[in-house]
Amino acid sequence: MEEKRRVLVIDTSALISGFDPSAVNEEAYSVPRVKDELLDGSIMKMRFNASIESGRLKLIDPSQKYIDIAKEASREVGDAGSLSEADIEVIALAVQLKDCGYEAVVLTDDYSIQNVAEKLELNFAPLANLGIRYYLSWIYYCPACGKKYPPDRKIILCENCGMQLKRRPVKKMPVRRRGAPSSMLEEREETKKPNAPGGR
Ligand SMILES: [Zn+2]
Repeated sequence: MEEKRRVLVIDTSALISGFDPSAVNEEAYSVPRVKDELLDGSIMKMRFNASIESGRLKLIDPSQKYIDIAKEASREVGDAGSLSEADIEVIALAVQLKDCGYEAVVLTDDYSIQNVAEKLELNFAPLANLGIRYYLSWIYYCPACGKKYPPDRKIILCENCGMQLKRRPVKKMPVRRRGAPSSMLEEREETKKPNAPGGR
């Protein structure tokens, strides 16, 4: 039996889209920097913190070697400008876990992360695979002066003050949501095969 242990690697978009690491059986991993991208006092941040406390979510800082791999791939794909440091680290962590023999699945609704994951031959899954789907749109803003930038701008530094832009979701509309978090488990078991990543 050389079945690899499947682990989830969670990015900011997955948490913002409603993913609760405490509601699944698989081990979930993320990076410390993701916490900074979650709004203080939000339900997502509370879930994030609670999942860490209960041990369902583990935070790991990926090593520099893997950060370099993730950065290189994001440049090659042309998505470097739309990825935050946390995003790069999430991708790096997935590669690192894969190298350690895990079947790492990046759980993300972020197209740029999906592109880079594909480039690196990582498995990834959008939240829709778990039966959750939201229309999510991002706004980028400067944490210093508050200037807002549209999400398609390939800008990472504020034009006024040179600060690195942060992002937050502006609108989140549930399209379809089946039941409580516990039903996510059942649904994912059933739909594992057809939509599961791993064909590559
Ligand atoms: Zn600014």
